[in-house]
Amino acid sequence: MNCTKCGAPEVIIIKKHSGQKLCQDCFVQGIERKVLKDIRKYKLIEKGDKVLVALSGGKDSVMLLDILNSLYERGIINMVAVTIDEGIKGYREDGVKIAKNHAKSLGIEHRIVTFDEYFDLTLDKIMDGSSQRKACTYCGVFRRWILNKVALEMGATKIATGHNLDDETQAILMNYLEGNIENLAKIGPKTRSKSDKFTVKIKPLREIPEKEIGLYVVAKNLEVHFAGCPYSEESFRGEVGQILKNLSRKHPTIMYSTLRGFDKIRPVIKKEFQKEFGVGECTNCGEPAANELCRACIFLRELEK
Ligand code: SF4
Ligand code: ZN
Repeated sequence: MNCTKCGAPEVIIIKKHSGQKLCQDCFVQGIERKVLKDIRKYKLIEKGDKVLVALSGGKDSVMLLDILNSLYERGIINMVAVTIDEGIKGYREDGVKIAKNHAKSLGIEHRIVTFDEYFDLTLDKIMDGSSQRKACTYCGVFRRWILNKVALEMGATKIATGHNLDDETQAILMNYLEGNIENLAKIGPKTRSKSDKFTVKIKPLREIPEKEIGLYVVAKNLEVHFAGCPYSEESFRGEVGQILKNLSRKHPTIMYSTLRGFDKIRPVIKKEFQKEFGVGECTNCGEPAANELCRACIFLRELEK
């Protein structure tokens, strides 16, 4: 079997949705081109931006850093990396180490920040107590709070995260099935707010399937943290993800069509259902908030009790 692009004999992937058979070089180049094209198409990054990459050390963020580095090397953007240590013993340490190595090898400023230093808590401590919520709920809210705060401190103009096609279609389907249309209105390649305390978040890998990200890091021999988080319990998101994976076997374009269809109705959903996010400020911590307190402060008060 030969590469449909260059004719090379060693094919590493057959893209079922497009019928392309690609060799390693053509696959890697194709992915890099696609991500950079999406960045231009959705105007995710502009010349002179200081992009903060949320770098966990997992495959998505490592690939994101690797591709954005091509813009950094050419002096188009400035780039910093931030790794959040949630305090998950036996899991997070390896990711932090890998993230550190990548940032160092690319000569990028890197900050490691912990739940402990900001909230005097670790995720393990939260989950040891009589926590009312699931680990991922605390984790997501506290991580977003820290990222936004650190981005402001570091003067970043964009926060780039490694959300991929699977993550995005899971979020679309999950929120739709739950009837959570206000959350649905927040989904997209770029999240912004009227508050100047809120740094714009971008998802340059939003149209890249998770499988291809795995193949990219292997093809480029990039060190990544593959271990699973001990708290990634059976969640509704996981169930929805499984449904989409099963459907994709017989219908390889299903995730793309879910995303495309959603993107067509997104402007209407946003207009009708989007709450003005983050226009106010949390009366406790000063971070952007839709209500009197931001979600992080609401959770911290619950935990104090
Ligand atoms: Fe946090 Fe949940 Fe991810 Fe673990 S699986 S790192 S708890 S969001
Ligand atoms: Zn707050």
